Amino acid sequence: MKEDRYSRQRLFSPIGDEGQRKIREKHVLLVGVGALGTSCAEQLVRAGIGRITLIDRDYVEWSNLQRQQLFGESDAALRLPKVVAAKTRLEKVNRDVQIDIHIKDAGREELEELLEGVDVVLDATDNFETRLLINDLSQKWNVPWIYGACVGSHGVSYTIIPGENACLRCLMDTVPLGGATCDTVGVISPVVQMVTAHQVADTMKLLVDDVAAVNQKFITFDLWQQRYSSISVNNVKKQDCPSCGLNPTYPSLSIENQTKTAVLCGRDTVQIRPAYVKERDFEELKQRLTQSKVKENAFLLSYESGDHRLVFFRDGRVLVHGTKDITEAKSIYLQTVSG
Ligand SMILES: [Zn+2]
Repeated sequence: MKEDRYSRQRLFSPIGDEGQRKIREKHVLLVGVGALGTSCAEQLVRAGIGRITLIDRDYVEWSNLQRQQLFGESDAALRLPKVVAAKTRLEKVNRDVQIDIHIKDAGREELEELLEGVDVVLDATDNFETRLLINDLSQKWNVPWIYGACVGSHGVSYTIIPGENACLRCLMDTVPLGGATCDTVGVISPVVQMVTAHQVADTMKLLVDDVAAVNQKFITFDLWQQRYSSISVNNVKKQDCPSCGLNPTYPSLSIENQTKTAVLCGRDTVQIRPAYVKERDFEELKQRLTQSKVKENAFLLSYESGDHRLVFFRDGRVLVHGTKDITEAKSIYLQTVSG
């Protein structure tokens, strides 16, 4: 029976009927819909969250399928944007949840707009720049966020509640965050599940207002080596921290720290965000391109140009595959769009 779908969660006394009702009223923002993001999203949607907002800039590729649990082979074959493929799957799991999706780069403007009415932000990104941005926004708007990262067989998780504990910027000098390296050494799926187990458990505690139960320690583990540690970081909070201190300046929110062009983590790919393109007109673009080299779906247009592949999104962004060199990527892009 449909009304019984949350019975095991309601029987769990720290949640109960009251907690289940609260979960149903809450809204979580998930930044990144890769390995961590798909796992968190599935758990929260099954748990009966009221609303979930997903933002991701990428599309599904074959190398994602080993660990990104909401995606299947047809998603990779069609190169569907990750948020689109995720939403289709999540709606089959639980149609009562409101699922909002955004095929966008998670920059300052985008995130700040999405933050309204959000109860918890979940970090499922692959880069430190975005995490510091989330960290500053969390402090500025007083919304808790949960850091998570994994590489190889190693994972970390840490829950940050503004006004309560040390923020990510406080930790940077003292705690080996290990998330700064791109995933060039690969990652195994169980590590993803272990990180999201911590992230989602703490999310549930926050959603049912059981703040006392939230893990205030920095969790780090290695599943291959069987090493687990939880480090107390209470004394790491800094009074003069520019994010959570007495006179915050939120450095990651300043214009000069907004990169428009970036090499994507662990990939031979550069993302370009042309400032002057607000919306890409695919029909106009196609007139400049050799038709036989164009592949297109409802969301993106992909173009083979020699050893490189360019993927154009409607929001103006372009991924240039086959290079890590920003200058080269920009010149390939300009040559392509100028026909
Ligand atoms: Zn801080």
